[in-house]
Amino acid sequence: MILSDDELARYARHIVLREFGGGGQLRLKQARVAVIGAGGIGSPAIQYLAAAGVGALTLIDDDVVEPSNLQRQTIFSTEDRGTPKVEAAAAFVRRLNPHVAVTTHRTRVTQDNVAALLAGADVVLDGCDNFATRLSVADAALGLRIPLVSAAVGQFEGQLATYRGWEADKPCYRCFVGDAIDQAGMTCADDGVLGPVTGVMGSLAALETLRAVAPFGRDSAGSVLIADLLSMRFRTLALPKDPGCRCSGVTA
Ligand SMILES: [Zn+2]
Repeated sequence: MILSDDELARYARHIVLREFGGGGQLRLKQARVAVIGAGGIGSPAIQYLAAAGVGALTLIDDDVVEPSNLQRQTIFSTEDRGTPKVEAAAAFVRRLNPHVAVTTHRTRVTQDNVAALLAGADVVLDGCDNFATRLSVADAALGLRIPLVSAAVGQFEGQLATYRGWEADKPCYRCFVGDAIDQAGMTCADDGVLGPVTGVMGSLAALETLRAVAPFGRDSAGSVLIADLLSMRFRTLALPKDPGCRCSGVTA
């Protein structure tokens, strides 16, 4: 596989990066990324993944665009109200970058369908709005050995981590959250969220997805980024593997 003249021009600012280069761009072109949730985190993530030239994007969401989404979900416009988010998002991607093949699933992720939805993905980006889906996605990604980039926001805060729990020294999502089946404050529908907070965290999730596809710099798996945007503080905390976690039984 090679890059066409149009792609060489389009991705010139990537290709000149010593840490990324034409090799990284080719890896992006060959990659399939599944995005769970086309909401506040999904919007900027989808935008940057499509612009960056991820070869195949799978978008999974069961909602329609609502007026209350438009304050932060910037790939949608006023006239998209009532349209399924995956349809509006796919239309956005096609306008932005014809080199991206986009597949949509207007469905809610469940334990029953998650493995089929994620099969074939090289990276999963989870920006969904509920804890049950996060756990289903995390468990499936662990089982399928697909790197999981997980981002969450609430009010003025965000968190972001990459999980490869099948590796002996890397945590899975459950090492972080435990086996709790529900957790308060995990959806922005209840608590509110300042629009750009989702933009920051969704953009960083896209960056981590690119890093997972075409590694550059420091491997961020094994740590979690906590953004406190009320006081404009970013902290990175070490996230060790929990020896009591289920992922410890599936290490290579
Ligand atoms: Zn674990």
